[in-house]
Amino acid sequence: MMDKSELISLTKEHMHVLCSAISERRVGGEGNRLATDFVKNEFRESGWTTDETLLEVMDWRTTGTSLKCGTESFEVSSSPYSKGCIVSGELVPVNTVEELEKADISGKIVFLHGQIASGQIMPKNFVFYNPEEHQKIISKLEKGNPKAIISATGRDSAVAGGVYPFPMFEDGDFDIPSVYMKDTEGEKLLACSGQIVTLESGAVRIPETAFNVIARKEGRTKKRIAVTAHIDAKIGTPGAIDNATGVVVLLLLSELLKDLKGEYGVELVAFNGEDYYEVPGQMKYIEQNQGRFDEIELNINIDGAGYKEGLSCFSAFNLPDYIREKLDTIISKHQNIVEGKPWVQGDHSIFIQYGCPAIALSSEWFIDHMDNQDITHTPKDNLSIVNYERIPECALAIRDLIVSLGENK
Ligand SMILES: [Zn+2]
Repeated sequence: MMDKSELISLTKEHMHVLCSAISERRVGGEGNRLATDFVKNEFRESGWTTDETLLEVMDWRTTGTSLKCGTESFEVSSSPYSKGCIVSGELVPVNTVEELEKADISGKIVFLHGQIASGQIMPKNFVFYNPEEHQKIISKLEKGNPKAIISATGRDSAVAGGVYPFPMFEDGDFDIPSVYMKDTEGEKLLACSGQIVTLESGAVRIPETAFNVIARKEGRTKKRIAVTAHIDAKIGTPGAIDNATGVVVLLLLSELLKDLKGEYGVELVAFNGEDYYEVPGQMKYIEQNQGRFDEIELNINIDGAGYKEGLSCFSAFNLPDYIREKLDTIISKHQNIVEGKPWVQGDHSIFIQYGCPAIALSSEWFIDHMDNQDITHTPKDNLSIVNYERIPECALAIRDLIVSLGENK
């Protein structure tokens, strides 16, 4: 059995592979496939049965953008997963949903700014959380048939992470070409209202593949514990905390639990697509488990763990008394893990929706600063912000819980 210092050096090696040797794990990108291959091989080397599920996805690239009004140029970026365009048309500014309803935007370039552009719009086919107002904005825009959309945005940390400006649309199912710009740049663009502007966005959508990787170990019964962590990261970030650390917890568990023989089977799931508009890996898992969610005794999801500052924290949902009691006993022995504020924005939400008991593990600092941090989904989420001790601590606590649950009820 590995001691803590061996676990820490293994953690460093794995983190280096996922965040440095492979620099980007965006869904559909080569780094993403290298990462799922790496995880599959590590699982196999520890003697687990593995299962790879093919996902049809879309990669995306842009060669750049330009926006001109007369002789003036403005700085804009292509919205991730948007179509590209080369268009000219009248600039129609829209500030609210009511204005959007009244505006004639057909054949024009609509400029969303202010109130209507204050938050990121959920992808149109996203089933887990999709406010009515977002669906209304999408459908008004589609019916209005503009040539393109420009949005001027600030920050929306809770939904879009720490990026400034945030892309108002990040949706490969939404076909109106769109770009976004800083709110401060948008204030200048307002002077061009009613004038002809020319917008070029060199964005292209590319059909690609990606994989979910699942490692399995049988138990004495059909019931199983599903430990999950998403392996993908946003475009342009190494995704160290979001969520290489979670994947490394899975890898450490494959080592720590290699000789497990318990009541329950164990499934280690590297989900592909938590940070991707159509969450393909999650949708595939739901499809594969249709009618079988009652076999899942417990989900443990790791996302955002291992931040350099503060402790690890968990939040628990739907736990029956016997799991809660065992959890409390184990947490009392792992002093760097505490109970934090409940948060549901992660893959554990799938299990909660199907009524399964679930525990989410993260970093307390991120949960406490969810509404104002500037790290998630940016290049700042790199190896320099990782506390390498936190990761084995999380793996050891999960190992203890799984072993303890497997002993008896
Ligand atoms: Zn995440």
